[in-house]
Amino acid sequence: MSTLPLAAGTKLVLASHNKGKLAEFSTLLADFGVTVLSAGDLNLPEPDETETTFAGNAALKALAAAKATNLPALADDSGLCVSALGGAPGIYSARWAGPDKDFDAAMARINEGIGTDERDAWFVCVLCLAFPDGTTHSFEGRVTGHITWPPRGAKGHGYDPIFTPNGETHTFAEMAEAKKNAISHRAQAFAAFRKACLA
Ligand code: IMP
Repeated sequence: MSTLPLAAGTKLVLASHNKGKLAEFSTLLADFGVTVLSAGDLNLPEPDETETTFAGNAALKALAAAKATNLPALADDSGLCVSALGGAPGIYSARWAGPDKDFDAAMARINEGIGTDERDAWFVCVLCLAFPDGTTHSFEGRVTGHITWPPRGAKGHGYDPIFTPNGETHTFAEMAEAKKNAISHRAQAFAAFRKACLA
């Protein structure tokens, strides 16, 4: 029996307006038997990410959608943390790229802020499933690695060209999508969520 009340046929709101994320969520949820609705389809507003942690922001987004719709809702928050920058950009990963989504500038800012021998970094993803009564269940995924410079690879998105996972020689942006999706922070958070739902 599932440890989470997410039975087949349940309507589940994906609390994101990001088309890429929605497609990825939908694929990952394909065998759950839930009916997926998106925040955009339901015209839900996008709440400001005012919390100070990945878990806080994921919960804020999931709870806002669950309360607005009276349905369970799933949200995530993710980012890149750099040890020599005290964990920055962290929850500000998207904001470091600015409104123009200039990740070349954001990656250069990271490289300029760290020394040659202090390259440790990790990606984090927290998924939060929230219910209209305010109950939340969170699942964290994390992949550790180091900052590579200059950026390498043309696949992926965001900070992928400067992140090489431990034990790998290629950056996320050089890897086949399937390979990245097997080891990424997002994959690990989803694996924990799946285990709790389908257990
Ligand atoms: P969110 O949409 O608030 O979760 O912001 C996530 C931000 O973190 C993205 O805009 C990227 O900047 C960064 N990020 C998260 N996951 C990845 C990844 O897998 N590769 C590259 N960048 C990522």
